[in-house]
Amino acid sequence: MKVDPFGDSTIKDYEKLFKEFGIEPLKPLLKKVKNKHIFMRRGIDFAHRGFGKFLASKKRAVMSGIKPTGEFHLGSKMIAEKIIYFQKEFGAKGFYAVADIEAYEDNGIPLEESADIAIDNVADALALGLDPKNAYIYKQSDEIQVQRMAFLFAPKVTNNTMRAIYGHRKVGLYMAALLQTGDILMPAMEFGFKSTLVPIGVDQDPHIRLTRDIAAKFRLPLPSSIYNKFFRALDGGPKMSKRNPMGYLTLNDPPDVVKKKVTNALTGGRDTVTEQKRLGGRPEKCMIYELLHFHFEPDDKELKKLRKECESGELLCGECKARALEKILKFYRGHQSKKKRMLPKAGKILSR
Ligand code: SF4
Repeated sequence: MKVDPFGDSTIKDYEKLFKEFGIEPLKPLLKKVKNKHIFMRRGIDFAHRGFGKFLASKKRAVMSGIKPTGEFHLGSKMIAEKIIYFQKEFGAKGFYAVADIEAYEDNGIPLEESADIAIDNVADALALGLDPKNAYIYKQSDEIQVQRMAFLFAPKVTNNTMRAIYGHRKVGLYMAALLQTGDILMPAMEFGFKSTLVPIGVDQDPHIRLTRDIAAKFRLPLPSSIYNKFFRALDGGPKMSKRNPMGYLTLNDPPDVVKKKVTNALTGGRDTVTEQKRLGGRPEKCMIYELLHFHFEPDDKELKKLRKECESGELLCGECKARALEKILKFYRGHQSKKKRMLPKAGKILSR
């Protein structure tokens, strides 16, 4: 198991994280949630810190963001969708940070370059349904309050704490981590929110540990968090990686590229048709199933039906891929035309 908020993480056994990180299982709290998001219903959102406090609170914020290093991929889609869900279902105000300073510190992307990427990314979030009227969308480099907070918090954070949480890192990454504490605590400190929920991938938990530690020292409400499992690479690898562009879909991919990537994705099919009819397919191994499970089949009954057909050998991979591709391309057509219309709005929001 490798968990690195700034790099590649590999997690084979999510259960281990409960013990090693001290995060808690989400399931017991879900009976208090009326309209559960598919990530909750399907165990994709699986752990939390302080989610009960968020549920009990009245004045709520939901905060997360994106590092503008490239096109929106399915991982970025998951985070945006969770913010949108908490905006809609809980009336929470969304805070969406474009972590351009982190993109500079971690990936060496100059701010002028990330500014264009940021507009593209924010247009994706808006097209997915992020409501800008109930959101605060900003770039770290423009947000003086977040920068001030990082400076304010710094004297209370020791080198030992940073090393214990992040290991030995260059100073710029420690600074980026401090800046993130500013992002997470801004809704409480500057806007008076009693409860801030941070929906993120579980590899980002170190940032929450640092932020909760700082919040306690400054007598601020501790932020809550909710964690999702990773969507794997299309070749079945543990996590999408920019080093393997065929291994992940971006929301800018044209239809022929989507088709190529989906067609080449790993399936859980057997070596021969006869064998598959006899033994059935293996959805737990299959990236076509995972694409539908995480992203493109919102209907639980349909998904269950597909699983049954796959496992019984009734459905073969060729037909299954064709059906999945139809759903995926339908989403892409709708999303890309909406996104095109959102680009000017995204530019306007980020130039404020
Ligand atoms: Fe995957 Fe579908 Fe093949 Fe089952 S039938 S292994 S879900 S592609």
